[in-house]
Amino acid sequence: LKVNSAQIQRESGFISGMVIVLHDVTEEQRTNAERREFVSNVSHELRTPLTSVKSYIDALQEGAIGDSELAPQFLKVVQSETERMINMINDLLELSRMDQGTNDLALESVSLGALFNYILDRFDMIISGRKPDQKQYTIKREIPETDVWVEVDPSKFTQVLDNLINNAIKYSPDGGVITAAMVIETQEVIIAISDQGLGIPAKDLDRVFGRFFRVDKARSRAQGGTGLGLAIAKEIVEYLHGRIWVESKEGQGSTFKIALPYTLEADLEDDWGEP
Ligand code: ADP
Repeated sequence: LKVNSAQIQRESGFISGMVIVLHDVTEEQRTNAERREFVSNVSHELRTPLTSVKSYIDALQEGAIGDSELAPQFLKVVQSETERMINMINDLLELSRMDQGTNDLALESVSLGALFNYILDRFDMIISGRKPDQKQYTIKREIPETDVWVEVDPSKFTQVLDNLINNAIKYSPDGGVITAAMVIETQEVIIAISDQGLGIPAKDLDRVFGRFFRVDKARSRAQGGTGLGLAIAKEIVEYLHGRIWVESKEGQGSTFKIALPYTLEADLEDDWGEP
C-alpha cells in the first residue's frame, strides 16, 4: 500500500484537515516481480544452450575438428542448439507483440470442421512418411458432419492446433492413439486433443500455460521444447474470445481443450463491409 498525504492549511495558517490517498500497489508490485522473473528466466534459458555451444566449439578448436567421427557429431549439437535458440527468440518476439497488442491478427469467418480436417490431413501426410524405426502413432478424428463458423486468424489458429497436436505426439508412447475431436455445444464449440501419454500432475494443470513452465525441464529441452508454446496458444485463444485448458490424470494421458464462440452461418461482415 502506498500512502500519500497532504495537510489542508487555511489562509489564517491553521491546519483544518488532512487528505490521505491510499494507493493499492499490490498489482503493480506483482507485475514488476513477474517481469523480473521473466527476464531472469530468459537469461537462464539462453545461457544453457549458449554455454553448450561454446564448449563444443572450444573442443573443436582444441583438436576435435581433426577427428572425422567427433567433428560432425559436435557440429550437429551446435546446429540443433542454435536452432532451439532461434525458435525461442521467435517465440519471445511473438509473445512480446501479443503483450504490446501489436500482433494484429487477421480475423475471418472460417468453417471450423473444414479447417480442423485440413490441419489433420497435414499430420496424416507426415505419419505416412515416417520410417519404421521412428515412434509410431495414429490420429483418430471425431469431427461431426455439421459444421460451425468461427472468427479466427486461420494461420494463428493453425499454429495453436499444431502446437497441441505436436505436444500430444511428443508425449505419446510408441503406438499411441491421439484423438482429435470437435463437439458443438449450445454456446460454444469445443476442440479437444487427447493423448495416452504421461499426463500432467494436478498441481501443474494451470501452470503449463505459463511462460517457460515445463513439468520436466530436461526432457522438454532434449526434445527441442522452449516451454513457450502453450503460453502463446493461450494468448492467441484469449484474443479470439475463447478459453484453453487441460484435463489430465497422471499416467492416463491428457486432453487439451479449446472453447470458442461460434455461429451457424458464415459471418460475411468482413467480405461485404456490412453486418
Ligand atoms: P514445450 O516446448 O516444453 O513443449 P509447451 O509450452 O508446449 O512447451 O508445454 C509446456 C509443458 O507442458 C511441457 O514441457 C510439458 O511438461 C507439458 N505438456 C504439454 N503438453 C503435454 C502433453 N500432451 N502431455 C503431457 N505434458 C504436456
